[in-house]
Amino acid sequence: MSEATDLLSDHIQHYIGAHHVDSADGDTFDVIDPTTNAAYISCASGKAADIDAAVAAAREAFDHGPWPTMQPRERARVLYAIADEVEKVHAKLAALESFDSGLPIRQAKGQANRAAENFRFFADLIVAQRDETYKMPGRQINYVNRKPKGVAGLITPWNTPFMQESWKLAPALASGCTVVLKPAEFTPASASLWPGIFERAGVPEGVFNLVNGFGETAGDALVKHPDVNLISFTGEAATGRVIFANCAPTMKAMSMELGGKSPAVIFADADVDQALDSTLFGVFSLNGERCTASSRILVERPIYDRFVEAYAERARKIKVGPPSDPDTEIGALVHPEHYDKVMSYIEIGKEEARLVAGGSRPAGLEEGNYLEATVFADVAPTARIFQEEIFGPVVCITPFDTDEEALALANGVDYGLAAYVWTSDVTRAHLFSHAIEAGMVWVNSHNVRDLRTPFGGVKASGLGHEGGYRSLDFYSDQQAVHIRLGDVHTPALGRRATPTTTSAWAARPHDHPGRGPAGSAPRPQAAHVHIHSQRRLNHE
Ligand code: NAD
Repeated sequence: MSEATDLLSDHIQHYIGAHHVDSADGDTFDVIDPTTNAAYISCASGKAADIDAAVAAAREAFDHGPWPTMQPRERARVLYAIADEVEKVHAKLAALESFDSGLPIRQAKGQANRAAENFRFFADLIVAQRDETYKMPGRQINYVNRKPKGVAGLITPWNTPFMQESWKLAPALASGCTVVLKPAEFTPASASLWPGIFERAGVPEGVFNLVNGFGETAGDALVKHPDVNLISFTGEAATGRVIFANCAPTMKAMSMELGGKSPAVIFADADVDQALDSTLFGVFSLNGERCTASSRILVERPIYDRFVEAYAERARKIKVGPPSDPDTEIGALVHPEHYDKVMSYIEIGKEEARLVAGGSRPAGLEEGNYLEATVFADVAPTARIFQEEIFGPVVCITPFDTDEEALALANGVDYGLAAYVWTSDVTRAHLFSHAIEAGMVWVNSHNVRDLRTPFGGVKASGLGHEGGYRSLDFYSDQQAVHIRLGDVHTPALGRRATPTTTSAWAARPHDHPGRGPAGSAPRPQAAHVHIHSQRRLNHE
C-alpha cells in the first residue's frame, strides 16, 4: 500500500446515472500493483446488465437532458471548468497513474496538464466552429445542420490511461454526445477521478457514465449494444479487428486508434546528437508502452556503427527503478501478463539479432515487472522483433544504404502509425515523409503534437483520423438541409397524356392562388404551371 492508494476509496465502482454503484451481479476483480504484482484494490467487474444500465442513463440524458442542445458557449464553459478541475487534482492523478500503471512519477506529472488541454482545446473549437453553407443563386440555399451523434461508447487502453480517456471524452462531450466509458482493466484507478471532476464542473446527470470491467464482457456488451451510436476504440490491432466485426450488425460509426511499429529513419546528414536524444526518448519514455514509440531505428550505413555504440551506451545508463522515485526513467511494466509477453520477445530477439544493451531484469529489482532498456542491432526486416509490436522498452536498429532501401524498410511492416525522419536535406525530408506509409510523420523531432492536426494511423494502425475538427466530425452527424428559393426542375410525371390541361390541384376552387397545401412551399400560379409544363414536355 502507498500514499497513492490512500487516495482511493476501499474499492473501485462504476458510475451510472450519477450514482457510484457495484456490478449488478456483485462481481469484482483484483487490480495489481506492478512493482510487486500483489493485488492492492478490487474493482467492480461490469457485464451486460451494467452496460445496459449505463447506456439507458446516457440515452435518457441524450434524449431528454439539456446537454445535446446547449449553446456551444454554454457547453464550452463546462468544458473549461472540467479542465480546471483536472488541473486541481494533478498531484493525486500523477500519484495514482504512477502507482497503478508503473509509469515513472516524473512522466506521470505531465498527464493532468495534457488532459486539461484536451478539454480547453475542444471548448475553443466548438465556439469557433463554422459549418458549410452553399447558395445556388435564385434556386436553393443549402447548409449543414450539425447534430451530436448520440450515445458514444469509449473504450480505452492502459497506457497513460487518464490522458487517453480525455482524448475521447473531450471531443465527445464538446460535440453534445453523452458517453459510456469502459477503461482498461489493468489500470482502472485514475478513471475513478472523472465522476468527481464532472460533478464539480457541472456536467448534467447521465451525460458521463463509467463501467469498469474486462474487454470480453463489459467492452463487448458496449460494442454490441443497439442503443450506442458509435464506438471510439484505442487498443491493439487484434482487438480492433474483433470490434470492427462486432460493430457491423448494428452499423455503428467507428474510430480505431491501434498499435504501431514506427520507424525513425536517420540519414548520415542528420544532427545525430539530436537524433540520439530524441530516439532514446521516443522509445524508452513511458516505459516504452507508447503507441507512437520509434521502436525501429533505421540508420544510414556511414554512421551506423557509431550510432549503435552511442545508443547502446546511453541505454545502459537509463535508470530503471520504482515508479515513485523521481530519478526513475523506466518504471515497472503494467502487468505480469504484459511483462511475460515483452520478455518472450526478448528471448526471440536473442535468436534473431545482436543484443547490445539490456535484455534482463535489472539487479536489485527482484520482484515486479522491471526490465532494462533493451537494444537489438543488425535486426533483419524479416525478424519478428522488427515486425511485431512489443510495447515495452525494446528497440531494433537496422542499417540501410540508399533512400529506396530505407523507404522499403520503413514501409515493410503491417503497421503505419507514426514515422520520424532525420535529415538536413529539406527536399529529402519532404519527399521521404510523403512516401512513408504512416498517419503522422515528424521531421527532426519526436512526437510533439499540435492538437489541430489529424491523429491516427494507416494500415493495421487504425481506421479514421481524429484530431481537431475531425474529432468533432466523428462525434457529429452532418445533416444537409436544402431549401428551395426558386423554381426547381421537376419532371411532371403523369401529365404527359394531356399537355394542355392545367394541374388538377391548381384548378381546385378552394385553393388560395399560388399556394399549396398548408405548410408546403409557395407554388407558381396555374398559368405558369401550364407554360412550364409545356416547356418541359418539349424538352423531354
Ligand atoms: P487492448 O486491445 O488489449 O485493450 C484495449 C481496450 O479494449 C481495453 O479497455 C480492453 O478491455 C478492451 N477490449 C478488449 N477486448 C475487447 C472486446 N472484445 N470488445 C470490446 N472491448 C475490448 O489494448 P491494450 O493492451 O489495453 O493497449 C495497448 C495497445 O493499444 C497497443 O497496441 C498500443 O499501440 C495501442 N494504443 C494505440 C494508440 C493510438 O493512438 N493508436 C494509443 C495508445 C495505445
